[in-house]
Amino acid sequence: MNKKSHTDYFKGRQLLIVTKHEKEKAIAPILEKWLGVKCIVDHTLDTDLLGTFTGELERADDPLSTVRKKCMMAMEQSKYDLAIASEGSFGAHPSIFFSTADDEIVMLVDKKNNLEIYSRELSTETNFNAKQIHSVDELIAFANETKFPSHGLILRKNKDDFTLIFKDNRNRRTLISHFNKIQKSYGSVYVETDMRAMNNPTRMKIIKAATKKLIHKILSVCPNCNTPGFSITEVKQGLPCEICHAPTRSPLSYLYNCKKCNHLKEDKYPHKKNWEDPMYCDYCNP
Ligand SMILES: [Zn+2]
Ligand SMILES: [Zn+2]
Repeated sequence: MNKKSHTDYFKGRQLLIVTKHEKEKAIAPILEKWLGVKCIVDHTLDTDLLGTFTGELERADDPLSTVRKKCMMAMEQSKYDLAIASEGSFGAHPSIFFSTADDEIVMLVDKKNNLEIYSRELSTETNFNAKQIHSVDELIAFANETKFPSHGLILRKNKDDFTLIFKDNRNRRTLISHFNKIQKSYGSVYVETDMRAMNNPTRMKIIKAATKKLIHKILSVCPNCNTPGFSITEVKQGLPCEICHAPTRSPLSYLYNCKKCNHLKEDKYPHKKNWEDPMYCDYCNP
C-alpha cells in the first residue's frame, strides 16, 4: 500500500473557516500556504449560538467541546467536510499570579479522513479588562490602558445587564457620547475590552500563533501510516538526578500515539540531557 503524504490529505480541498469575527485574516494565509487548501468563510452560519464574547449568551460547554461543536455545526449547515474553528478564554492566568491570560484553541476537523487536530496557545499578552466607572476621566484612563482605539471597547449598564449596550465605539467621540447616554440614566457605566477578534489585534496575534502551532502538528505525520497530527499524547516523568540517581519530576520521555493505527513512539531525553540538575531533585534539594 502506498503511503499518503500530508498534502494528499488536504491539497486542493475547500476548508471552511468558522468565524463571524474575521478570524480568517489570521488563519487563512497560513493554512493556504502549508496545506494547499482553499479557505472559505460562510457568513450565513450562526456560531453565536454557542456563546459570544460580549456575554449575552453564556457559553454552556468547556472551550474544547465548544470549538468541536462549532466545526460540526458549521459542516452540518453547509456542504463542506473540512472545517476549522477557534475559541478563546480570558481571565486569570492559571499559574502566574496577578496576571491575565488569553487561552486560544484552534481546531481542524476533517470528516472525510476522520481527523481531529487541535492546538492551544496560552499567552499573557492580552488587554482583557473590565470595570464599573463613574466619570469620563475614568473612561479615558481605562481606554488608554487597554489600547483604545486600535482595540475596541464595549459599554453597558452593568456586568449582568445587556439591555443597553454599545459595542461599536470606533473613536473617542462616540465612546464618550455613548458613555454619557448610559450614565445619564443609570449613574455609572460598565466598560469592558472588546475581545471579538476583529476589534482586538492582540488577540488576533495569539490566534495566529495558535494556528502556526496547529500547522506544526498537522505536518507531523505518523511514521507508520503517515496520518497527520502525530503529536505528544503523554509526558513521562522521571529524569534521574545527577547526584543520587533518584527519578525527578522532569520529563524522561515524550510519548507519541497515532490515533489512526495506534503506533507508539517514545522520544527519550527530549531536552537532550540524560541527567537532571540536583536542584530539581526532591531528595537532594527538598
Ligand atoms: Zn499511524
Ligand atoms: Zn538527587
